[in-house]
Amino acid sequence: MRPESRPSLVRIEDLVVEYASERYTVRPLDGFELDAPPGQLIALLGPSGSGKTTLLSILSGMIPATSGSVVVDGIDVLSLSGTELEDYRRHTIGIVFQGFNLIPSLSARENVAAPLLVAGVRRKEALARADVLLAEIGLEERADHMPKHLSGGQQQRVAVARGLVGDPKVLLADEPTANLDHISAEAVVQLLRSLRDRGRTIIISTHDDRLLPAMDQVVYMTPEHEAATTAQGQLMLVPGEVLFRQDAKSDYIYDIVEGTVDIVREFSDGTETVIADRSAGAYVGELGPLLGFPRSAQVRARTHVTLQPLTIAEYNERHENPVEAERRAAGSAGDAAIDLSDSDHAVDDQDVIDLEHQQAETIRTAVDGDEESDEATVD
Ligand code: ADP
Ligand code: MG
Repeated sequence: MRPESRPSLVRIEDLVVEYASERYTVRPLDGFELDAPPGQLIALLGPSGSGKTTLLSILSGMIPATSGSVVVDGIDVLSLSGTELEDYRRHTIGIVFQGFNLIPSLSARENVAAPLLVAGVRRKEALARADVLLAEIGLEERADHMPKHLSGGQQQRVAVARGLVGDPKVLLADEPTANLDHISAEAVVQLLRSLRDRGRTIIISTHDDRLLPAMDQVVYMTPEHEAATTAQGQLMLVPGEVLFRQDAKSDYIYDIVEGTVDIVREFSDGTETVIADRSAGAYVGELGPLLGFPRSAQVRARTHVTLQPLTIAEYNERHENPVEAERRAAGSAGDAAIDLSDSDHAVDDQDVIDLEHQQAETIRTAVDGDEESDEATVD
């Protein structure tokens, strides 16, 4: 990538957003980067909770960031306030909220015109502009329909038209195809593609990877695989020494060869609680790498400790993951998780019970998100 070779319309650098939720801090965006030129359709892809709505809210100037830089069409978004922020939201960006959000008592035309009417544009002018947009999205014949008389796909297209009413440089759409059937979803994607063809950049969030081939750029909100793959020698810690912090990126799983470690939940007010401990013969820190989640707690040595770091592959060799083993046996390594309740499947009931028992055991002995830590989060 040669950043100098084309202009940036949206440039995000080292963005951090923290929420002090309940008692501990979550950081859905931690060093996030994005460089979007004009004229692209870009998808933010990630599972629920990966920070998609947070990022779109930052780009809309609706929430503050903890640190970092966000520049849209030359405007330093994080420093905006008052009328500058209003101008930015009116002219630079358009927003299509999740779930359409049309006003039920207004017609399609009035819904599209609403942001202009709120901004004090004359009614006749605002409605004329709405008609132009409804024609662009192929819904001019539905202009007088109320939202409840439109299909989900039509409502979403009206919501897109409303997002475009200020002729923004950047259109943001939060999960625009969620809850639509594939025919309506295709129409919405087609519409978004045609809008970017005219030189506007469109950023959508989605957890549906079927949309990706239709995108110009895909931004993965959770890196595919952060777990370590390189074997490492033993590690020794002195009492009090930290193995990893809560929220750190997960890399290795640790086999405790000697000694005892504490598992410590860090709270946003700076306090902490020991929620569990693990001693020689147990593993610590396995769920983070397995799930691709950040560490959910700190681990530190209570005594002198010797640990053997393990990659996921090494861990699975020692401690065969029953679902993986089953998948391998079924010869479908790349497929989605097998349905354990499927009676046609080559496991009998006892196997299923054994499997579930082993999985429960794995979870019970895990550091991240075990029963004790769940209890520890409840006030
Ligand atoms: P997504 O849209 O990808 O599902 P979100 O941006 O909504 O993800 O949320 C990312 C994380 O931030 C989640 O863990 C969520 O619980 C948390 N979060 C989002 N909004 C708030 C808020 N207002 N206060 C506290 N935590 C929040
Ligand atoms: Mg969301």
